[in-house]
Amino acid sequence: MDQKKFDVVVLGGGPGGYPAAIRAAQHGKSVALIEEKDLGGTCLNRGCIPSKALIAGSEFLARLNHAAQFGVQISTKDFDYEKLAHHKDGVVEKMKTGLEGLIATNKITVFRGRGQLVSPQEIKVIGQDSALIRADKIIVATGSEPRNISAFPFDYERIHDSTSLLALKTLPKSIIIIGGGVIGCEFASLYANLGVQVTILELLPRILSTEAEEVSQALTRSFIKKGIRVEVGVKVQKITRHDQGIVVDVEGNKQFEAECCLVAVGRSLNTSNIGLEKAGVLVLDNGMVSVNDYMETSVKGIYAVGDIASKWWLAHVATHQGLIAADHACGKTAKMHYNAIPSVIFTHPEIGSVGLSLEEAKKRGFKAKIGAFPFQALGKSQAILEPEGFAQIVIDETTGQVLGAQVVGYEASTLISEMTLAITNELTVECLSNTIHAHPTIGEVWGEAAMMAEGFPLSLPRPRTSQSKK
Ligand SMILES: Cc1cc2nc3c(=O)[nH]c(=O)nc-3n(C[C@H](O)[C@H](O)[C@H](O)COP(=O)(O)OP(=O)(O)OC[C@H]3O[C@@H](n4cnc5c(N)ncnc54)[C@H](O)[C@@H]3O)c2cc1C
Repeated sequence: MDQKKFDVVVLGGGPGGYPAAIRAAQHGKSVALIEEKDLGGTCLNRGCIPSKALIAGSEFLARLNHAAQFGVQISTKDFDYEKLAHHKDGVVEKMKTGLEGLIATNKITVFRGRGQLVSPQEIKVIGQDSALIRADKIIVATGSEPRNISAFPFDYERIHDSTSLLALKTLPKSIIIIGGGVIGCEFASLYANLGVQVTILELLPRILSTEAEEVSQALTRSFIKKGIRVEVGVKVQKITRHDQGIVVDVEGNKQFEAECCLVAVGRSLNTSNIGLEKAGVLVLDNGMVSVNDYMETSVKGIYAVGDIASKWWLAHVATHQGLIAADHACGKTAKMHYNAIPSVIFTHPEIGSVGLSLEEAKKRGFKAKIGAFPFQALGKSQAILEPEGFAQIVIDETTGQVLGAQVVGYEASTLISEMTLAITNELTVECLSNTIHAHPTIGEVWGEAAMMAEGFPLSLPRPRTSQSKK
């Protein structure tokens, strides 16, 4: 077996690992990157990018339903899912080629195979490449996989996880989605827009239970209006495959039938069988690696980033952590902060949130209040026929500081950036109401929500409790 020495070795080439490798290389270090499947990880190959390529097509189709109102006569009957799937594969391939080029440009040595720590400074690689790599610093970014639950007999033809569902080339007529979390809701929205009959079965009392209650309620209303069946408080007992489809048995002797189902009930962290214990790294009972603010584990010189190292299972969090870990490993000052993590759910309507919800802010002892504004009161929303949803800002009444923001509606994914900047920089509601937003734009919603919070709304009646502005 070849023996190699590098300054930094990164295990896992997803959105946590490859940015860490690039940053360390930019600091002038010799860097190895070990990947057993495809560079880009879950996000590029089996997550964010392929799902958003499909969602983009489904939203385009949904918007075409308004065509007649714009005076355009279009038939959507000839929609061809195989072509949309082809578009998705093309986007993934293009991005992967770009990423491979970027890795090469940064002179990072890629090892193809499965890596396992054999000591605090050594990783053994077995696969297409075989080597024993020694490094001063190790960054572990092995990510996660769909959770495999023995009660659910995945066959990846009718009983799917997110990976096998993304790979389909034809559309089912009906689907049951078990789990109304982010992934479940994104697929529900995608399939409903494409005309598939969708049922969501969620164990908890509401879908998107980690989001603010108003957000979850707004999406539930919108889903029901679209014809999605939303069943909450439902405990699935078993899934059975038959010739034409599947049957899902739930507690209380109830059954649901469809052509196929997606099990979207969480993910398992890739922290076992990678030698963390051999290197002495502390792994918590839930499989997460314990890290400090610099992403360093219990062992000095070994870092962990991405899904395995935080409760935020988001690609941009993984990337930021990767950059922090690489900076710290290369002797630079860097520290991870979690107060302004934007999170986007690519349903239709989209959902964006950052910082605290009103409930969370109150729980933390803030005298918090909300300023909310509906999209239907914006000229731009009416003009583009996207009046659904609202934006709301959570503020600390005492200081005016913006604590959080949530938005449900058209382009929420882009809109949330302004609030992320505001919260990151500890801006107050006054900074927002004093910011001139171009007219007519969807972005005006933040200025209006800020004025609502101050009690001086411009485009809606003034709340009764408001006092004069100083
Ligand atoms: C359907 C879906 C949609 C998603 N959409 C979004 C979204 O829109 N926005 C968002 O922010 N997040 C989204 N996510 C989440 C996002 O994909 C993850 O949070 C992100 O990919 C985590 O990055 P990571 O680097 O920690 O791990 P991963 O992306 O999982 O990468 C880990 C890599 O390590 C490799 N690896 C593991 N073990 C070894 C080993 N022993 N040796 C060698 N290589 C190894 C794996 O092959 C993999 O390539 C989505 C996820 C899914 C499933």
